[in-house]
Amino acid sequence: MIDFPTTCGFCSCGCALYVEPTKGRVAALCPSANHPVSAGRLCIKGWNATPALVNDQRLRTPLIRKQGKLESASWEEAISATVSALKQTEPARIGVIGSAKTTNEECYQLAKLARDVIGTPNVDSACRFYDASLIPALLDTTGVPGSQITLDAVAAAGSMLIVGANVMEQLAHIGSRIQDAVENGCKVVAVDPRVSRLAPQAGIFLHPMPGTDLAWLRYMAKSIIDRQLYAEGVPEMPGFEELRASLEGADGARLEGECGLTAEAVTEAAQVMAANPPLIVMFGLGVMQQAESTRTIMALADIALLLGGQV
Ligand code: SF4
Repeated sequence: MIDFPTTCGFCSCGCALYVEPTKGRVAALCPSANHPVSAGRLCIKGWNATPALVNDQRLRTPLIRKQGKLESASWEEAISATVSALKQTEPARIGVIGSAKTTNEECYQLAKLARDVIGTPNVDSACRFYDASLIPALLDTTGVPGSQITLDAVAAAGSMLIVGANVMEQLAHIGSRIQDAVENGCKVVAVDPRVSRLAPQAGIFLHPMPGTDLAWLRYMAKSIIDRQLYAEGVPEMPGFEELRASLEGADGARLEGECGLTAEAVTEAAQVMAANPPLIVMFGLGVMQQAESTRTIMALADIALLLGGQV
């Protein structure tokens, strides 16, 4: 019987699975049928998670540095040495660093340990670099500091704008919902400097020059407004006139030189999305790690709001 529940840590889909440990090895593995993300399925990385567990180079015990050399230790010894080191340090001088590879529950527990047990406010992780642009950009545009899109909404989308995200490879279960949507007639506009595995799903695949997303997004927003492709009621939304005025300089004639996309191609993509609601706008690290990432994410949110979609 396979009954040890765990979470795949290879990507932030966080699929649930069960493993059967036998004599220190994984004898069997199966996905959880009831999990809202994996729904009884794993991607190839999840199915092949077990070799990492039994790899010769995997750490099997904690290590403690003694006289300059790391030595194997028991968990009791390691935890006791950690507690004693923490007790000798002023809490405000202690930093706790988490990882994007841990589960939500582990991250929550780590923050509780830092704030409530150790008494330090210094909790950080690599997510700070991603969210540094995302949180203010979405707060300023949608009023919510994160995406509210559900997996069901992805599967039910009429169109999608996916920018700088190799979703099919990196987040396979979001990729599978995109595939479901495409099978139901969803039109995918993919935008990436390179061809990714999204290509078979994309009705339109645009390849701008790296780092130029803001230019074509501004032109796309102008095109939506000029051609009145926006959703009903959008001109009455707060900020509409300011947005329209801010796009005056978005010049279709200069677009190809600026970012490698023609004005016609960008307008055609906008028309396809406007004609196929509901729209889902997604983006990945290709956007979040640009120099202009905050403004680019705001421009993506503007496209979603103009067309009555979600980001
Ligand atoms: S999508 Fe694949 S890699 Fe990501 S958590 Fe699920 S099984 Fe693991």
